[in-house]
Amino acid sequence: MALQDPSAIEIKYKQLFIDNNFVDSVNGKTIPVINPTNEEVICEVQAADKEDVDLAVAAARKAFNIGSPWRTMDASKRGRLLEKFADLLEKNKEYVASLDCLDNGKPYFDAEDDVSSIVDLFKYYAGWCDKICGKTIPVDGSYFTYTVHEPVGVCGQIIPWNYPVAMMGWKLGPALACGNTVVLKPSEVTPLSALYCAQLFKEAGFPPGVVNIVPGFGSTAGEAIARHMDIDKVAFTGSTQTGRKVMVAAAESNLKRVTLELGGKSPLIVFADCDLDFAATVAHGAIMTNHGQNCCAGSRTFVQDSIYEKFVEKSRELVENRKVGDPFDPLTQQGPQVNKAQFNKVLSYVEQGKTQGAKLVYGGERVGEKGFFIKPTVFSEVTDDMSIATDEIFGPVQSILRFSDVEEVVQRANRTRYGLAAGVITNSIDRAFTVSKALQAGSVWINCYDVVTSQTPFGGFKQSGQGRELGEYGLHEYYEVKTVTVKIPQKNS
Ligand code: NAD
Repeated sequence: MALQDPSAIEIKYKQLFIDNNFVDSVNGKTIPVINPTNEEVICEVQAADKEDVDLAVAAARKAFNIGSPWRTMDASKRGRLLEKFADLLEKNKEYVASLDCLDNGKPYFDAEDDVSSIVDLFKYYAGWCDKICGKTIPVDGSYFTYTVHEPVGVCGQIIPWNYPVAMMGWKLGPALACGNTVVLKPSEVTPLSALYCAQLFKEAGFPPGVVNIVPGFGSTAGEAIARHMDIDKVAFTGSTQTGRKVMVAAAESNLKRVTLELGGKSPLIVFADCDLDFAATVAHGAIMTNHGQNCCAGSRTFVQDSIYEKFVEKSRELVENRKVGDPFDPLTQQGPQVNKAQFNKVLSYVEQGKTQGAKLVYGGERVGEKGFFIKPTVFSEVTDDMSIATDEIFGPVQSILRFSDVEEVVQRANRTRYGLAAGVITNSIDRAFTVSKALQAGSVWINCYDVVTSQTPFGGFKQSGQGRELGEYGLHEYYEVKTVTVKIPQKNS
Protein backbone atom coordinates (compact mmCIF):
# COMPACT_ATOMS: atom_id res chain seq x y z
CA MET A 1 0.00 0.00 0.00
CA ALA A 2 1.37 3.38 -0.98
CA LEU A 3 1.91 5.89 1.81
CA GLN A 4 0.07 8.58 -0.07
CA ASP A 5 -1.95 9.05 -3.23
CA PRO A 6 0.33 11.35 -5.27
CA SER A 7 -2.63 12.87 -7.11
CA ALA A 8 -3.98 14.06 -3.75
CA ILE A 9 -0.87 16.13 -2.95
CA GLU A 10 -1.83 19.77 -3.23
CA ILE A 11 0.86 21.96 -4.83
CA LYS A 12 0.53 25.20 -2.90
CA TYR A 13 3.14 27.44 -4.51
CA LYS A 14 3.89 27.65 -8.24
CA GLN A 15 5.01 31.27 -8.58
CA LEU A 16 8.39 32.96 -8.22
CA PHE A 17 9.23 34.17 -4.71
CA ILE A 18 10.66 37.70 -4.83
CA ASP A 19 10.80 40.21 -1.94
CA ASN A 20 8.60 37.92 0.21
CA ASN A 21 5.83 37.83 -2.42
CA PHE A 22 4.75 35.08 -4.80
CA VAL A 23 4.59 36.60 -8.28
CA ASP A 24 4.19 35.52 -11.91
CA SER A 25 7.18 35.78 -14.22
CA VAL A 26 7.39 38.98 -16.28
CA ASN A 27 6.88 37.17 -19.60
CA GLY A 28 4.30 34.74 -18.18
CA LYS A 29 6.20 31.64 -19.32
CA THR A 30 5.89 28.44 -17.28
CA ILE A 31 7.75 25.14 -16.79
CA PRO A 32 5.86 21.82 -16.82
CA VAL A 33 6.89 19.77 -13.79
CA ILE A 34 6.79 16.06 -14.66
CA ASN A 35 6.13 13.12 -12.35
CA PRO A 36 8.86 10.60 -13.30
CA THR A 37 6.77 7.71 -11.96
CA ASN A 38 3.99 8.08 -14.55
CA GLU A 39 5.42 10.69 -16.97
CA GLU A 40 2.42 12.98 -16.38
CA VAL A 41 2.52 16.73 -15.79
CA ILE A 42 2.10 17.53 -12.06
CA CYS A 43 1.66 21.27 -12.58
CA GLU A 44 3.07 24.32 -14.37
CA VAL A 45 5.46 26.50 -12.40
CA GLN A 46 6.33 30.10 -13.35
CA ALA A 47 9.65 30.25 -15.22
CA ALA A 48 12.06 33.01 -14.28
CA ASP A 49 13.98 34.74 -17.06
CA LYS A 50 16.55 37.55 -17.02
CA GLU A 51 13.98 40.26 -16.12
CA ASP A 52 12.80 38.23 -13.13
CA VAL A 53 16.37 37.63 -11.97
CA ASP A 54 16.90 41.42 -12.20
CA LEU A 55 13.89 41.99 -9.94
CA ALA A 56 15.05 39.37 -7.45
CA VAL A 57 18.57 40.83 -7.38
CA ALA A 58 17.17 44.34 -6.82
CA ALA A 59 15.15 43.01 -3.85
CA ALA A 60 18.19 41.19 -2.48
CA ARG A 61 20.35 44.31 -2.89
CA LYS A 62 17.83 46.48 -1.08
CA ALA A 63 17.68 43.95 1.74
CA PHE A 64 21.48 43.99 1.95
CA ASN A 65 21.88 47.79 2.03
CA ILE A 66 23.46 49.25 5.16
CA GLY A 67 20.73 50.22 7.60
CA SER A 68 18.26 47.59 6.34
CA PRO A 69 16.44 45.39 8.90
CA TRP A 70 18.66 42.46 7.90
CA ARG A 71 21.94 44.39 8.18
CA THR A 72 21.03 45.94 11.52
CA MET A 73 19.72 42.71 13.05
CA ASP A 74 21.74 41.27 15.96
CA ALA A 75 23.64 38.16 14.93
CA SER A 76 21.94 36.17 17.69
CA LYS A 77 18.53 37.21 16.34
CA ARG A 78 19.63 36.02 12.89
CA GLY A 79 20.41 32.69 14.54
CA ARG A 80 16.92 32.56 16.00
CA LEU A 81 15.41 33.09 12.54
CA LEU A 82 17.43 30.15 11.19
CA GLU A 83 16.24 28.08 14.14
CA LYS A 84 12.65 29.11 13.53
CA PHE A 85 12.96 28.01 9.91
CA ALA A 86 14.34 24.65 11.11
CA ASP A 87 11.33 24.23 13.41
CA LEU A 88 8.86 25.06 10.65
CA LEU A 89 10.59 22.67 8.26
CA GLU A 90 10.43 19.92 10.88
CA LYS A 91 6.72 20.59 11.41
CA ASN A 92 6.13 20.28 7.66
CA LYS A 93 8.53 17.39 7.13
CA GLU A 94 6.01 14.96 5.64
CA TYR A 95 4.63 17.48 3.19
CA VAL A 96 8.06 18.71 1.99
CA ALA A 97 9.26 15.09 1.67
CA SER A 98 6.21 14.23 -0.40
CA LEU A 99 7.06 17.08 -2.82
CA ASP A 100 10.61 15.75 -3.36
CA CYS A 101 9.23 12.24 -3.71
CA LEU A 102 6.72 13.46 -6.29
CA ASP A 103 8.86 15.46 -8.74
CA ASN A 104 12.20 13.73 -8.14
CA GLY A 105 10.96 10.14 -7.79
CA LYS A 106 13.13 9.29 -4.77
CA PRO A 107 11.67 6.89 -2.18
CA TYR A 108 9.53 8.75 0.35
CA PHE A 109 11.60 7.72 3.37
CA ASP A 110 14.81 8.87 1.66
CA ALA A 111 13.10 12.19 0.98
CA GLU A 112 12.17 12.40 4.66
CA ASP A 113 15.82 11.78 5.61
CA ASP A 114 16.85 14.61 3.28
CA VAL A 115 14.43 16.99 5.01
CA SER A 116 15.61 15.91 8.47
CA SER A 117 19.22 16.54 7.45
CA ILE A 118 18.30 20.11 6.51
CA VAL A 119 16.49 20.65 9.80
CA ASP A 120 19.76 19.64 11.49
CA LEU A 121 21.79 21.82 9.15
CA PHE A 122 19.78 24.95 9.93
CA LYS A 123 20.07 24.27 13.65
CA TYR A 124 23.82 23.81 13.22
CA TYR A 125 24.25 27.07 11.31
CA ALA A 126 21.86 28.91 13.65
CA GLY A 127 24.43 28.29 16.37
CA TRP A 128 27.19 29.78 14.24
CA CYS A 129 25.50 33.15 13.58
CA ASP A 130 26.95 34.97 16.60
CA LYS A 131 30.28 33.16 16.50
CA ILE A 132 31.53 34.40 13.14
CA CYS A 133 34.23 36.87 14.07
CA GLY A 134 37.64 38.21 13.14
CA LYS A 135 40.66 38.72 15.39
CA THR A 136 43.12 41.33 16.59
CA ILE A 137 46.57 41.08 15.05
CA PRO A 138 49.80 42.36 16.65
CA VAL A 139 51.40 44.54 13.94
CA ASP A 140 54.62 46.56 13.69
CA GLY A 141 54.36 50.30 14.49
CA SER A 142 51.84 52.29 16.52
CA TYR A 143 48.73 50.76 15.12
CA PHE A 144 45.89 48.69 16.40
CA THR A 145 44.71 46.21 13.77
CA TYR A 146 41.73 43.92 13.73
CA THR A 147 39.81 41.94 11.14
CA VAL A 148 36.06 41.65 10.69
CA HIS A 149 34.20 39.00 8.74
CA GLU A 150 31.55 40.70 6.65
CA PRO A 151 28.94 39.04 4.45
CA VAL A 152 29.91 38.94 0.76
CA GLY A 153 26.63 40.56 -0.32
CA VAL A 154 24.03 39.36 -2.80
CA CYS A 155 24.65 35.68 -3.52
CA GLY A 156 23.33 33.83 -6.54
CA GLN A 157 22.84 30.10 -5.91
CA ILE A 158 22.13 27.50 -8.58
CA ILE A 159 21.24 23.95 -7.57
CA PRO A 160 20.56 20.57 -9.26
CA TRP A 161 17.61 18.16 -9.10
CA ASN A 162 19.12 15.13 -7.33
CA TYR A 163 18.61 16.33 -3.74
CA PRO A 164 16.19 19.25 -4.15
CA VAL A 165 15.56 20.24 -0.54
CA ALA A 166 18.99 19.19 0.67
CA MET A 167 20.90 21.20 -1.95
CA MET A 168 18.71 24.20 -1.14
CA GLY A 169 19.64 23.86 2.54
CA TRP A 170 23.35 23.40 1.88
CA LYS A 171 23.34 26.66 -0.05
CA LEU A 172 21.06 28.82 2.10
CA GLY A 173 22.20 27.74 5.58
CA PRO A 174 25.77 29.12 5.56
CA ALA A 175 24.90 32.10 3.32
CA LEU A 176 22.20 33.31 5.71
CA ALA A 177 24.26 32.53 8.81
CA CYS A 178 26.91 34.97 7.54
CA GLY A 179 24.28 37.65 6.84
CA ASN A 180 24.11 37.54 3.03
CA THR A 181 21.01 37.91 0.90
CA VAL A 182 20.23 35.29 -1.72
CA VAL A 183 18.70 34.67 -5.13
CA LEU A 184 18.40 30.89 -5.44
CA LYS A 185 17.49 29.04 -8.61
CA PRO A 186 16.25 25.50 -8.05
CA SER A 187 16.48 23.04 -10.92
CA GLU A 188 13.73 23.41 -13.50
CA VAL A 189 13.11 19.66 -13.01
CA THR A 190 12.41 19.79 -9.24
CA PRO A 191 11.26 23.27 -8.17
CA LEU A 192 8.40 22.32 -5.81
CA SER A 193 10.03 21.90 -2.39
CA ALA A 194 12.11 25.10 -2.65
CA LEU A 195 8.99 27.15 -3.46
CA TYR A 196 7.18 25.72 -0.46
CA CYS A 197 10.19 26.46 1.76
CA ALA A 198 10.10 30.06 0.49
CA GLN A 199 6.84 30.46 2.37
CA LEU A 200 8.45 28.97 5.49
CA PHE A 201 11.28 31.54 5.34
CA LYS A 202 8.65 34.28 5.24
CA GLU A 203 6.74 32.69 8.12
CA ALA A 204 9.96 32.38 10.13
CA GLY A 205 10.36 36.16 9.90
CA PHE A 206 13.14 36.70 7.36
CA PRO A 207 12.77 40.29 6.10
CA PRO A 208 11.66 40.85 2.46
CA GLY A 209 14.42 40.36 -0.11
CA VAL A 210 16.68 38.21 2.07
CA VAL A 211 15.61 34.94 0.41
CA ASN A 212 14.38 34.95 -3.19
CA ILE A 213 13.56 31.73 -5.07
CA VAL A 214 13.42 31.85 -8.86
CA PRO A 215 12.91 28.54 -10.65
CA GLY A 216 13.91 28.73 -14.31
CA PHE A 217 15.94 27.10 -17.03
CA GLY A 218 19.73 27.07 -16.92
CA SER A 219 20.31 28.86 -20.20
CA THR A 220 18.01 31.74 -19.16
CA ALA A 221 17.68 32.23 -15.39
CA GLY A 222 20.90 30.34 -14.54
CA GLU A 223 22.98 32.25 -17.06
CA ALA A 224 21.40 35.54 -15.90
CA ILE A 225 22.53 34.82 -12.33
CA ALA A 226 26.06 33.80 -13.34
CA ARG A 227 26.48 36.95 -15.50
CA HIS A 228 24.68 39.44 -13.25
CA MET A 229 26.69 42.58 -12.58
CA ASP A 230 25.09 43.15 -9.18
CA ILE A 231 25.56 39.65 -7.77
CA ASP A 232 28.67 39.44 -5.60
CA LYS A 233 29.07 35.68 -5.45
CA VAL A 234 27.71 32.66 -7.27
CA ALA A 235 27.55 29.22 -5.69
CA PHE A 236 26.80 26.38 -8.08
CA THR A 237 26.12 22.68 -7.74
CA GLY A 238 25.70 20.59 -10.87
CA SER A 239 27.67 19.03 -13.67
CA THR A 240 31.32 19.88 -14.34
CA GLN A 241 30.35 21.03 -17.84
CA THR A 242 27.85 23.61 -16.54
CA GLY A 243 30.18 24.61 -13.70
CA ARG A 244 32.76 25.61 -16.29
CA LYS A 245 30.18 27.84 -18.02
CA VAL A 246 29.26 29.46 -14.70
CA MET A 247 32.91 30.22 -13.99
CA VAL A 248 33.41 31.74 -17.44
CA ALA A 249 30.25 33.87 -17.07
CA ALA A 250 31.40 35.06 -13.64
CA ALA A 251 34.84 35.94 -15.00
CA GLU A 252 33.44 37.72 -18.06
CA SER A 253 31.00 39.83 -16.04
CA ASN A 254 32.06 41.28 -12.67
CA LEU A 255 34.57 38.65 -11.48
CA LYS A 256 32.10 37.62 -8.79
CA ARG A 257 33.32 35.04 -6.29
CA VAL A 258 32.64 31.47 -7.42
CA THR A 259 32.23 28.21 -5.55
CA LEU A 260 31.49 25.00 -7.40
CA GLU A 261 30.33 21.53 -6.34
CA LEU A 262 30.57 19.37 -9.44
CA GLY A 263 30.56 15.81 -10.67
CA GLY A 264 32.52 12.74 -9.72
CA LYS A 265 33.57 9.21 -10.66
CA SER A 266 34.47 8.08 -7.19
CA PRO A 267 36.45 4.90 -6.47
CA LEU A 268 35.60 2.49 -3.68
CA ILE A 269 38.50 0.10 -3.04
CA VAL A 270 37.78 -3.28 -1.48
CA PHE A 271 40.76 -5.23 -0.13
CA ALA A 272 40.72 -9.01 0.21
CA ASP A 273 41.15 -8.81 4.01
CA CYS A 274 37.64 -7.35 4.41
CA ASP A 275 34.44 -9.00 5.55
CA LEU A 276 33.06 -9.76 2.09
CA ASP A 277 29.32 -9.51 2.82
CA PHE A 278 29.84 -6.21 4.63
CA ALA A 279 32.01 -4.83 1.82
CA ALA A 280 29.58 -5.82 -0.91
CA THR A 281 26.72 -4.22 1.01
CA VAL A 282 28.63 -0.97 1.50
CA ALA A 283 29.63 -0.93 -2.18
CA HIS A 284 26.04 -1.62 -3.25
CA GLY A 285 24.75 1.29 -1.14
CA ALA A 286 27.58 3.53 -2.35
CA ILE A 287 26.39 3.33 -5.96
CA MET A 288 22.67 2.56 -5.65
CA THR A 289 21.72 5.27 -3.13
CA ASN A 290 19.39 7.82 -4.73
CA HIS A 291 19.27 5.61 -7.88
CA GLY A 292 22.92 6.41 -8.56
CA GLN A 293 22.00 10.09 -8.94
CA ASN A 294 24.53 11.08 -6.36
CA CYS A 295 27.54 13.30 -7.00
CA CYS A 296 29.74 11.22 -4.70
CA ALA A 297 28.37 7.83 -5.85
CA GLY A 298 30.97 5.06 -5.52
CA SER A 299 30.71 4.35 -9.24
CA ARG A 300 34.01 2.47 -9.64
CA THR A 301 34.19 -0.53 -7.34
CA PHE A 302 37.79 -1.81 -7.30
CA VAL A 303 37.97 -5.34 -5.87
CA GLN A 304 41.16 -7.28 -5.10
CA ASP A 305 41.52 -10.29 -7.40
CA SER A 306 41.46 -13.10 -4.80
CA ILE A 307 37.88 -12.24 -3.75
CA TYR A 308 36.69 -10.84 -7.10
CA GLU A 309 34.34 -13.63 -8.24
CA LYS A 310 32.69 -14.03 -4.82
CA PHE A 311 32.26 -10.27 -4.55
CA VAL A 312 30.60 -10.05 -7.97
CA GLU A 313 28.23 -12.86 -7.03
CA LYS A 314 27.25 -11.13 -3.78
CA SER A 315 26.74 -7.84 -5.66
CA ARG A 316 24.43 -9.64 -8.10
CA GLU A 317 22.35 -11.00 -5.22
CA LEU A 318 22.02 -7.52 -3.74
CA VAL A 319 20.71 -5.89 -6.95
CA GLU A 320 18.43 -8.83 -7.64
CA ASN A 321 16.75 -8.21 -4.28
CA ARG A 322 16.57 -4.44 -4.60
CA LYS A 323 12.94 -3.35 -4.77
CA VAL A 324 12.23 -0.98 -7.66
CA GLY A 325 8.85 0.72 -7.90
CA ASP A 326 6.47 3.41 -6.70
CA PRO A 327 8.47 5.82 -4.54
CA PHE A 328 5.47 6.26 -2.25
CA ASP A 329 5.44 2.52 -1.48
CA PRO A 330 7.17 2.13 1.92
CA LEU A 331 9.05 -0.97 0.71
CA THR A 332 10.52 0.70 -2.37
CA GLN A 333 14.30 1.16 -2.39
CA GLN A 334 14.59 2.60 -5.90
CA GLY A 335 12.12 4.80 -7.75
CA PRO A 336 12.37 6.08 -11.32
CA GLN A 337 15.30 8.07 -12.75
CA VAL A 338 14.44 11.75 -12.60
CA ASN A 339 13.48 12.31 -16.25
CA LYS A 340 13.58 10.93 -19.78
CA ALA A 341 16.95 12.50 -20.60
CA GLN A 342 18.60 10.80 -17.61
CA PHE A 343 16.79 7.52 -18.30
CA ASN A 344 18.07 7.50 -21.91
CA LYS A 345 21.56 8.54 -20.83
CA VAL A 346 21.84 5.66 -18.34
CA LEU A 347 20.59 3.07 -20.84
CA SER A 348 22.99 4.36 -23.49
CA TYR A 349 25.90 3.82 -21.07
CA VAL A 350 24.65 0.27 -20.47
CA GLU A 351 24.86 -0.33 -24.23
CA GLN A 352 28.37 1.16 -24.35
CA GLY A 353 29.42 -1.11 -21.46
CA LYS A 354 28.20 -4.16 -23.36
CA THR A 355 29.81 -3.20 -26.69
CA GLN A 356 33.09 -2.24 -25.03
CA GLY A 357 33.40 -5.74 -23.56
CA ALA A 358 32.22 -5.51 -19.95
CA LYS A 359 30.16 -8.43 -18.65
CA LEU A 360 26.56 -7.56 -17.81
CA VAL A 361 25.95 -9.49 -14.59
CA TYR A 362 22.44 -8.18 -13.90
CA GLY A 363 19.92 -5.53 -14.99
CA GLY A 364 20.56 -3.04 -17.76
CA GLU A 365 16.97 -2.72 -18.87
CA ARG A 366 13.78 -0.79 -18.34
CA VAL A 367 11.29 -1.87 -15.67
CA GLY A 368 7.63 -1.60 -16.77
CA GLU A 369 6.30 0.51 -19.60
CA LYS A 370 5.53 3.76 -17.86
CA GLY A 371 7.86 5.87 -15.79
CA PHE A 372 11.64 6.11 -15.97
CA PHE A 373 12.44 2.91 -14.06
CA ILE A 374 15.70 1.04 -14.67
CA LYS A 375 16.77 -2.27 -13.16
CA PRO A 376 19.75 -1.79 -10.86
CA THR A 377 22.69 -2.93 -12.93
CA VAL A 378 26.02 -4.64 -12.28
CA PHE A 379 28.90 -4.94 -14.73
CA SER A 380 31.98 -7.05 -14.02
CA GLU A 381 35.26 -7.34 -15.96
CA VAL A 382 35.25 -3.55 -16.37
CA THR A 383 38.55 -1.98 -17.45
CA ASP A 384 39.78 1.57 -16.86
CA ASP A 385 39.34 2.78 -20.43
CA MET A 386 35.66 1.80 -20.83
CA SER A 387 33.24 4.73 -20.78
CA ILE A 388 31.33 3.15 -17.88
CA ALA A 389 34.57 3.49 -15.88
CA THR A 390 35.47 7.02 -16.98
CA ASP A 391 32.19 8.97 -17.28
CA GLU A 392 29.72 10.04 -14.65
CA ILE A 393 26.65 7.95 -15.55
CA PHE A 394 24.48 9.28 -12.71
CA GLY A 395 22.43 6.08 -12.63
CA PRO A 396 22.18 2.72 -10.82
CA VAL A 397 25.08 1.12 -12.67
CA GLN A 398 27.87 -0.54 -10.69
CA SER A 399 31.15 -1.08 -12.53
CA ILE A 400 33.34 -3.66 -10.80
CA LEU A 401 37.04 -3.53 -11.67
CA ARG A 402 39.76 -5.98 -10.67
CA PHE A 403 43.10 -5.07 -9.04
CA SER A 404 46.00 -6.90 -7.46
CA ASP A 405 48.11 -4.54 -5.31
CA VAL A 406 47.98 -1.30 -3.34
CA GLU A 407 50.24 0.84 -5.52
CA GLU A 408 48.42 -0.17 -8.68
CA VAL A 409 44.95 0.49 -7.32
CA VAL A 410 45.83 3.91 -5.90
CA GLN A 411 47.24 5.01 -9.26
CA ARG A 412 44.19 3.75 -11.13
CA ALA A 413 41.75 5.21 -8.61
CA ASN A 414 43.38 8.64 -9.01
CA ARG A 415 43.51 8.46 -12.81
CA THR A 416 40.40 10.60 -13.35
CA ARG A 417 39.66 14.29 -13.86
CA TYR A 418 37.39 14.14 -10.83
CA GLY A 419 38.22 14.08 -7.12
CA LEU A 420 35.05 14.34 -5.10
CA ALA A 421 35.04 11.22 -2.92
CA ALA A 422 36.60 7.81 -2.38
CA GLY A 423 36.25 4.82 -0.09
CA VAL A 424 38.46 2.07 1.30
CA ILE A 425 37.29 -1.18 2.84
CA THR A 426 39.91 -3.16 4.71
CA ASN A 427 40.57 -4.65 8.12
CA SER A 428 44.14 -3.33 8.14
CA ILE A 429 44.46 0.04 9.86
CA ASP A 430 47.86 0.64 8.24
CA ARG A 431 46.49 0.05 4.77
CA ALA A 432 43.45 2.23 5.49
CA PHE A 433 45.68 5.18 6.43
CA THR A 434 48.21 4.68 3.63
CA VAL A 435 45.52 4.49 0.97
CA SER A 436 43.35 7.31 2.33
CA LYS A 437 46.40 9.59 2.34
CA ALA A 438 47.22 8.75 -1.27
CA LEU A 439 43.71 9.20 -2.67
CA GLN A 440 43.00 12.55 -4.36
CA ALA A 441 39.49 13.25 -3.11
CA GLY A 442 37.69 15.79 -0.96
CA SER A 443 36.09 13.06 1.18
CA VAL A 444 37.54 9.64 1.97
CA TRP A 445 35.45 7.09 3.83
CA ILE A 446 37.06 4.12 5.57
CA ASN A 447 34.84 1.07 6.12
CA CYS A 448 31.77 3.18 5.36
CA TYR A 449 30.55 5.36 2.52
CA ASP A 450 28.61 8.56 1.91
CA VAL A 451 28.67 9.73 5.51
CA VAL A 452 27.98 13.44 5.08
CA THR A 453 27.15 15.65 8.06
CA SER A 454 26.37 19.33 8.65
CA GLN A 455 29.54 19.61 10.74
CA THR A 456 32.06 18.27 8.21
CA PRO A 457 33.32 20.00 5.05
CA PHE A 458 32.38 18.62 1.67
CA GLY A 459 33.80 19.42 -1.76
CA GLY A 460 36.05 18.32 -4.55
CA PHE A 461 39.67 18.08 -5.59
CA LYS A 462 40.49 18.62 -9.28
CA GLN A 463 37.49 19.10 -11.62
CA SER A 464 34.99 18.14 -8.92
CA GLY A 465 34.83 21.66 -7.58
CA GLN A 466 36.17 24.79 -5.95
CA GLY A 467 35.68 25.60 -2.28
CA ARG A 468 33.89 23.66 0.44
CA GLU A 469 30.34 23.43 1.72
CA LEU A 470 29.10 22.46 5.19
CA GLY A 471 30.84 22.74 8.53
CA GLU A 472 32.88 25.74 9.59
CA TYR A 473 34.71 25.64 6.23
CA GLY A 474 31.41 26.25 4.45
CA LEU A 475 31.15 29.62 6.20
CA HIS A 476 34.52 30.82 4.84
CA GLU A 477 33.00 30.94 1.37
CA TYR A 478 30.32 33.41 2.47
CA TYR A 479 32.26 36.22 4.12
CA GLU A 480 34.87 38.78 3.13
CA VAL A 481 37.72 39.54 5.51
CA LYS A 482 38.16 43.24 6.20
CA THR A 483 41.36 44.48 7.87
CA VAL A 484 40.90 47.66 9.93
CA THR A 485 44.00 49.53 11.08
CA VAL A 486 43.82 52.37 13.61
CA LYS A 487 46.69 54.81 14.29
CA ILE A 488 47.27 54.93 18.03
CA PRO A 489 49.48 57.33 20.02
CA GLN A 490 51.72 54.75 21.55
CA LYS A 491 51.86 51.02 21.67
CA ASN A 492 52.26 49.56 25.13
CA SER A 493 52.87 45.96 24.18
P1 NAD B 1 23.31 20.60 -14.50
O1 NAD B 1 24.69 21.10 -14.53
O2 NAD B 1 22.65 20.26 -15.78
O3 NAD B 1 22.34 21.68 -13.81
C1 NAD B 1 22.57 22.18 -12.53
C2 NAD B 1 21.88 23.51 -12.40
O4 NAD B 1 22.51 24.43 -13.28
C3 NAD B 1 20.40 23.52 -12.76
O5 NAD B 1 19.71 24.39 -11.89
C4 NAD B 1 20.40 24.09 -14.18
O6 NAD B 1 19.21 24.74 -14.54
C5 NAD B 1 21.55 25.08 -14.09
N1 NAD B 1 22.17 25.43 -15.37
C6 NAD B 1 22.20 24.73 -16.53
N2 NAD B 1 22.88 25.41 -17.48
C7 NAD B 1 23.29 26.58 -16.91
C8 NAD B 1 24.05 27.68 -17.37
N3 NAD B 1 24.51 27.75 -18.60
N4 NAD B 1 24.31 28.69 -16.50
C9 NAD B 1 23.87 28.63 -15.22
N5 NAD B 1 23.13 27.62 -14.73
C10 NAD B 1 22.85 26.59 -15.56
O7 NAD B 1 23.32 19.40 -13.49
P2 NAD B 1 22.09 18.47 -13.09
O8 NAD B 1 21.85 17.57 -14.25
O9 NAD B 1 20.97 19.28 -12.55
O10 NAD B 1 22.71 17.67 -11.83
C11 NAD B 1 23.55 16.61 -11.99
C12 NAD B 1 25.00 16.99 -11.81
O11 NAD B 1 25.19 17.66 -10.57
C13 NAD B 1 25.91 15.80 -11.74
O12 NAD B 1 27.04 16.00 -12.55
C14 NAD B 1 26.33 15.72 -10.29
O13 NAD B 1 27.53 15.10 -10.04
C15 NAD B 1 26.32 17.13 -9.89
N6 NAD B 1 26.16 17.29 -8.44
C16 NAD B 1 27.25 17.62 -7.69
C17 NAD B 1 27.14 17.75 -6.32
C18 NAD B 1 28.32 18.12 -5.48
O14 NAD B 1 28.12 18.53 -4.34
N7 NAD B 1 29.53 18.02 -5.96
C19 NAD B 1 25.91 17.55 -5.70
C20 NAD B 1 24.82 17.20 -6.48
C21 NAD B 1 24.96 17.09 -7.87
